[in-house]
Amino acid sequence: MSTALNKKLEHPLDRLKRLGVEIVIKRDLQDGIIYRYTGVGNSHPRLFKNPVTKLNTCQLCGRMSTLKKVYLRNDVYRWNCENGDYKCEGKDTLCTGCWNKVRPLVMREREAKELSSFINRIKKEIRNERKN
Ligand SMILES: [Zn+2]
Repeated sequence: MSTALNKKLEHPLDRLKRLGVEIVIKRDLQDGIIYRYTGVGNSHPRLFKNPVTKLNTCQLCGRMSTLKKVYLRNDVYRWNCENGDYKCEGKDTLCTGCWNKVRPLVMREREAKELSSFINRIKKEIRNERKN
């Protein structure tokens, strides 16, 4: 413990300043910066990532968690929107709990649509048979 107190922490960008390396910040990102050296040689952009964790918010219950737990669920993509309604905001970034609630509903709706199209096909078939 006593050795840790003698140590100082230096930010990587402060280190560059101490070494006399001049940098230009190209872009300020949400979780870091993209910079490059001002020298002629090393001019390709470099990324410095801040030690932060990105969080997603569940669009149903508002729970915030890591991208591993709350993410866009492709199998229920835009489940709350009518077909062709592009102004509607799809609520498909979900936590596992909400996903488990939504998924059976979406599956049942899909099944019902499939069945109704099947019924329509049979009705059409019957109509054609009557004509003959
Ligand atoms: Zn949720």
